[in-house]
Amino acid sequence: MGISTPEDLQGAPRGNRPANPLISVIVPCYNEEEVIHYTHERLTNVLGGAGLKYEIIYVDDGSSDLTALKLRDIQSGTDNVGVVRLSRNFGHQVAVTAGLDYADGDAVVLIDADLQDPPELIADMVDKWRQGYDIVYGVRTTREGETAFKLWTAKAFYRFINLLSEVPLPLDAGDFRLIDRAAADALRLMRERHRMIRAMASWVGFHQTALPYEREKRFAGVSKYPLRKMILLALDGVVSFSVVPLRMVTLVGMTLFLFSIIGIIYALISRLMTDIWVPGWTLLFISSLMLGGLQLVFLGIIGEYVGRIYGEAKQRPLFLVMEVLGPDRFRHREQT
Ligand code: UDP
Ligand code: MG
Repeated sequence: MGISTPEDLQGAPRGNRPANPLISVIVPCYNEEEVIHYTHERLTNVLGGAGLKYEIIYVDDGSSDLTALKLRDIQSGTDNVGVVRLSRNFGHQVAVTAGLDYADGDAVVLIDADLQDPPELIADMVDKWRQGYDIVYGVRTTREGETAFKLWTAKAFYRFINLLSEVPLPLDAGDFRLIDRAAADALRLMRERHRMIRAMASWVGFHQTALPYEREKRFAGVSKYPLRKMILLALDGVVSFSVVPLRMVTLVGMTLFLFSIIGIIYALISRLMTDIWVPGWTLLFISSLMLGGLQLVFLGIIGEYVGRIYGEAKQRPLFLVMEVLGPDRFRHREQT
């Protein structure tokens, strides 16, 4: 497939994993009442079956259905399940971030609530981690039950980002991944508000490797990633990791400036030295339209960056926690 990963660049992975590691599994949930019980059952089966010491952290991202109630039910009576309830819907990427803040494990696994990413793969991820890889990301080979349009946009999305962005983003890697404690701590330091976890995880480096798998269809419920959110995520991936769009503005601006100098000289010469200087209306009309259009586009690009600076300047917390369910140790985790 020709995916170039940081793994190819960094030589041998490092070893020395703890003998009996704690694995934290982070599950962001937004209106997942139909599926969350199945998800929990499958997760506990897989993790228990593999003999792993684990904790599961559900982040309720301001669900408006019965998800919170179901999570309370799932949590009650357990000592390795925590539920972090955000005060409203903050979006998938922020929900995952909240989970990261509360996770205590030697390795952290990010997985969607809808069972599109097979929990069975976690055991393989842990194996890879034990071999010394710090980030093991799932790469989707097939995607069942998704529309041709979603497949096409997803593909275009990764191509687009890799074209423009300064961090390589492996094709078809989602957020389903295992992250070593060291890399997770690095991620936690990145508090920017326009987040794309998979690009940020690529940025932090460490030893990374891919784990191919087949993406299943949603177990129940509907996708919370409509096209609008996909486009916004793509924009975050590019603008947060690249100044290429800004540089394009400068380049095109300079080119146009050169052309306009030629145009000015031409106009002056024909005005002063010839007598064919009258009409020129077409040229004027076209060039003013074109320039106006380009200027608006580039103002927009600059506006994207300025908007982001504004957002960061406000220094608001990324999310607000309304309630934490679970054993005390979950509640007392330090928050940045
Ligand atoms: N999600 C979330 N907040 C949101 C949207 C989604 O926490 O605002 C969660 C959702 O519950 C799921 C995961 O993020 O566990 C991925 O969302 P979804 O399955 O809808 O996206 P898709 O798989 O269709 O890209
Ligand atoms: Mg999904």
